[in-house]
Amino acid sequence: MRLDFVTLLAITATNLCMLSAALPLIMGRGAGTAARWVQASVLLQGLAWAAIIASSSAWDQTLSTVSMAAALAQWAIFEALAIWLGPRPGRRLVHALVVAIPLGYTLGFSHYAFRVGWANLLLAALMLTVARATLYPQQPANRRWRLLLMGCLAAMAAFTAARGVLGAFTDAYPSFRTPHPVNIAAAVAANVTLVLGTVALLVAWRDEAEQQLRTLAMTDALTGLLNRRGFEVHGQALRTRAARQRQPLAALLLDLDHFKRINDAYGHDAGDRALALFARLAQSTAGPGDTVCRFGGEEFGVLLLHAGQEGVQRFDQRLRGRLQAESAEALGFPMDYSAGAALFHCGDEDLASLMARADVALYAAKEQGRRQLAMA
Ligand code: GH3
Ligand code: MG
Ligand code: MG
Repeated sequence: MRLDFVTLLAITATNLCMLSAALPLIMGRGAGTAARWVQASVLLQGLAWAAIIASSSAWDQTLSTVSMAAALAQWAIFEALAIWLGPRPGRRLVHALVVAIPLGYTLGFSHYAFRVGWANLLLAALMLTVARATLYPQQPANRRWRLLLMGCLAAMAAFTAARGVLGAFTDAYPSFRTPHPVNIAAAVAANVTLVLGTVALLVAWRDEAEQQLRTLAMTDALTGLLNRRGFEVHGQALRTRAARQRQPLAALLLDLDHFKRINDAYGHDAGDRALALFARLAQSTAGPGDTVCRFGGEEFGVLLLHAGQEGVQRFDQRLRGRLQAESAEALGFPMDYSAGAALFHCGDEDLASLMARADVALYAAKEQGRRQLAMA
């Protein structure tokens, strides 16, 4: 079977153009920023290959330089990865290469060996930088799509580097359409990696949506705090960590006092604002490693890492002081709460029984006249 290089390239360019029209349609308007970067990347790649094909008919230098949009396409993938995986290493290098590749290419255009070596070798370095960006995610991300994408990028980097070496240091690659076996293999690989890379990116996009749903399912809409389900997930992790590191951990249940009266006197909207204010104060009084949640209604749960009895009392005093100071001013009426606290016994006590002990203490605080903290 004879494979014609330009035909292979034309198929890749056609697929990319079709894909860049189809992706916005199937992904829809609310696709998100990472998905937009992916769409931009596909469009830029299509443009790059179309330009290189057209360059042999007219405006050689201009269209060949336009084909360096392939570098911008890599940058777009890098940006999508930064959204999915958190800040990626090598950002400055990516920016520098995106500028240097077309600039050096067009300035050295009259020198074939230089321009082919420059463009392909730097493009390969860019692809490897993007491939590396699939590793070490800073937020939860499925390994499989990352490895698939990394494989596609690494394979294309290898073929691109091989083209660069052939063009810069040998006579075996006198034009981009040379039917050299490496060039033919690179064109086949471009098609294969386009299909597999697109699959990887679509799975990444689906994972992003799944992650957003998971977060939403664990968040309380009114206060933005974790809801009870989120508290259980985060709380278990915190409990396990405290047990493993033999760190103290304290649980508090906070219940707003006579909240029904607030609703009755000032209306449900004022009640909602009061809940939001209390949530904000509780969250900002707790430390960054602590967990605060809305258990339901006007009841809140707090887990304080590294806190013993004194830590609990300090938290309670600070929160109560801030609530007294801010509720009258922000809402126009005073608010207070009762709290029950229990200290985690290092060992095998589970989160539910820790919270149950805090609940018994909360009941005692209410019984003893509210507006106070009771320890289990
Ligand atoms: P106590 O001091 O014994 O805790 O009395 P309380 O009135 O706070 O407790 P009770 O359980 O009798 O009433 C809780 C009230 O909280 C009743 C309910 O309408 C109100 N509530 C629960 N969820 C919300 C909410 O999302 N918004 C508003 N505005 N009110 C809520
Ligand atoms: Mg209450
Ligand atoms: Mg209650």
